[in-house]
Formats: sequence, C-alpha cells, structure tokens
Amino acid sequence: MTHFEFDKGDLDLLREALARMEQGFRDLPAVPRPAGRSYDEAALRDVLLEVATRMQDNYPYFHPNYAGQMLKPPHPIARLAYSLAMYINPNNHALDGSRASSPMEKEAVAEIARMFGWQVHLGHLTGGGTMANLEALWIAGQLRPGDTVLASDQAHYTHSRISGVLKIPFESVTSDRYARMDLQALEDRLKRGGVGCVVATLGTTAVGAVDPLPEILKLRERYGFRLHADCAYGGYYTLASNLDAPARAAFDALGAVDSIVIDPHKHGLQPYGCGCVLFRDPAVGKFYRHDSPYTYFTSSELHLGEISLECSRAGASAVALWATQRLLPLVRGGEFAGMLESCRRQALELYGRLAADTQYVTAFPPELDILVWAVRGPDLARASAAAKREFEEAAARGVHLALAELPARFFYSKSETLGRDATVMCLRSVLMKGNQPGPA
Ligand SMILES: *Cc1c(COP(=O)(O)O)cnc(C)c1O
Repeated sequence: MTHFEFDKGDLDLLREALARMEQGFRDLPAVPRPAGRSYDEAALRDVLLEVATRMQDNYPYFHPNYAGQMLKPPHPIARLAYSLAMYINPNNHALDGSRASSPMEKEAVAEIARMFGWQVHLGHLTGGGTMANLEALWIAGQLRPGDTVLASDQAHYTHSRISGVLKIPFESVTSDRYARMDLQALEDRLKRGGVGCVVATLGTTAVGAVDPLPEILKLRERYGFRLHADCAYGGYYTLASNLDAPARAAFDALGAVDSIVIDPHKHGLQPYGCGCVLFRDPAVGKFYRHDSPYTYFTSSELHLGEISLECSRAGASAVALWATQRLLPLVRGGEFAGMLESCRRQALELYGRLAADTQYVTAFPPELDILVWAVRGPDLARASAAAKREFEEAAARGVHLALAELPARFFYSKSETLGRDATVMCLRSVLMKGNQPGPA
C-alpha cells in the first residue's frame, strides 16, 4: 500500500475557472502593480509552509480511519467553488455586494425547501445550525411571547442556551429508550399549558435518533403550539431510501412543520460556516424589518440582509452550496442520496458486528448513521472505564472513535434498577463518509 495523498489534480481546474471568471472583468483598466507582486512572495511562502506544518497536527478527519465525531472535508466542487468566489469575496447581505451570489443563495435554499416539499418558503443560509436555530426560536418567541419552548433531553444543548439568550422559558422533555422524545411526557407537559413551541429533532447529535413527528403533529392539533424541526444533522436523510418505518414517517411529515433547520456543513458536503433556516410562512419576514442607513439597497428585489439576523455573510458559502447542488442534485435515487444510503448501510453493518460480539452492549439499531455501544462490565463505572480504554487503544492503532456519556436506559433493559438518571460512558462512531470503505 502506498501512503496517503490529498487530491491535487483539481488545482489546474481552479486555474482554468479563474481565467474564465477574469473574462468577465476584461474591460476594467489594468491596475498598475507595485514592482512585481503586491506581496513579498518569499515571506508568503514561508508563512504558508508554516501553516502546512501546523496543520499536520490534526486527526485525519478526511480518512476512513477517522470514524469519531461529525467531521469530514467538503466535496471538491464545494472547495473549488468557494476558493473561486474568494477572489471576489461577495457579501450576501445586500444585492449590491453580491449580485451573482445572492441569487445563487436563493436558488440553492429554494432547492433545499423543495426537498422538504415546500414550493413557497422564506429562508436563507446562516453561519451554522446554532444561528439558524436561534432565528427559528426568535420567530417562535415573537409569535408566542412569554410561552415556553420544549425540546427533548436529547435535543442539541443549543436550544436551552439560545432560549436563555432570547429570554424565552425553556423546558426539556424526557426521551424514551430509543432516545426519541417521549410522547406521554410531552403530552403531560402540554396539558399544563403555556407551551408556545415544540422543537422536534430529526437526527439527534448524540445518537441520530428521530423524534416521532407524525404523533407530535397530532398533539399540535389538540394543543396548538408552533412546531420547529431541528434537522441540522439529519435533514438530508429525507432523500434516503433505506430508512426504517418510524424515521421514514417522521421525514415524510416534515412539510407540515412551521420551521426547519438544516446544516449543509454537516451532511451537505460544505465547508464550515453553512447552516440554513426555512420558514413555511413567508409572512414571518416582517419581524426582521430594519432601517439601516449603512446598507445600500439599490435594487427593489429582496436583499437577504432584510430577512437575516446576521448582517455580513459569506457569498462564497452560497456559491459552494449552489455548485454542489448543481453537481449532486437533492433528489431521491440520485448520487447524493446514494451517499447517505451507504452511510446508513455502513452503520447498520457495524451495528450487526457489534451486536454479535459478546464484549459489547449495543443500544437500539441506528436510525441514521450514528452508532453508540457500551463495553460489557460488571457495573456502570467499570463499563465506562473499559470504554475509555477501548477508545484509547483504538486511537493508538490509528482508528479514531468518539466517547459519549449517555443514559444507561439506552443500553440496559433492566435499567429501572439503575435509576432514570444513571449514565454510562460509551463508544460512538459517526459513519458519515459514505463513499469510502469503513475504518481498518
Ligand atoms: C450540530 C447541531 C446543531 C448546532 O449546529 P452548529 O452548526 O454546530 O452550530 C444543532 N442541532 C443539531 C441537531 C445539531 O446536530
């Protein structure tokens, strides 16, 4: 076997695309350069090579042997399109600063909305899932001032923290043994009243559990709350053909929620700095209204800065996302959907191997592509210590997993004897590099 190499062939393509982009500015007068280059080439080289050396100090997120956290590099088309756009560095705040890239953002976001079945929507890209969820909860708080936000105890911690920032009351609802929101606990809380918004997570960050959306929608008919779906991690799985029935039913019901968050920088093959928030009712745009003396709105068309809490935003993110969706459209049965399907197949295959191995205790089968398993031990403390040892031993062999402390009830059927709050340290693997072989 030969050693690892990054793919460098596409740098020629970047040069060709840069020359094409240059053609569009051919009529500009030449800019006289200060003798030679505008920078000291030798100094530039020194610093860049120093950066390359510093960057050697990373776990190999791009390699099949890295099967730990949610990390992988963007698709080459995203990397190239982003690099190309950076020569111009558009700002997708106002159309004046992003004549090409704002329309590309609108097109790319509309395609994501259509993936969820929305022909009409209001939405935009954000710096990530946190900002996207903040906007969704902010709108929920505007519409139902003073009312409580509910999310499951397996929801991302950002919801309770954002609620704190927005000064919206927040409560968590317990999860069941499959790490999904417990419907009885949810209804018990709804009966007490004062709930303005329920957050359903489709693909929890820890284990990839999918909350039972069809049943939550039925409760909405009775109790009338706003429903936000946090699909930051799992959203693209709506395209996959190999989900189990409960997850399939949840994704099929997504069109009925009020707002959706999805992170193109997680499963959408994008560089970091790319989240997305979508609202079903475009009328919520009225809450974003501002009156800035700094923004030059020379066009009467929608400026994305009018419907976004963040002001300056990377046009390059939109360009990268647009290019990726152009190459890999968000359709069922397509190449992109196939990549998600193979992520899930790998997770199921690893689950089968671990379930058959008496050293380990598996939780439930993975609903998406995140797998968690405990190491068998006489008690929770020793099982946790054994998981940490295995984590370190795997790392020493060059295989990178993750650790997670999770409720013991996910793993042990007799968990009543352990108490509801008992936890166990377990191993966790996010198998999100679908087109690659699994870890060695
Ligand atoms: C990752 C994640 C978030 C936070 O998103 P960032 O992009 O990390 O800011 C929120 N919710 C869920 C379900 C996530 O997986």
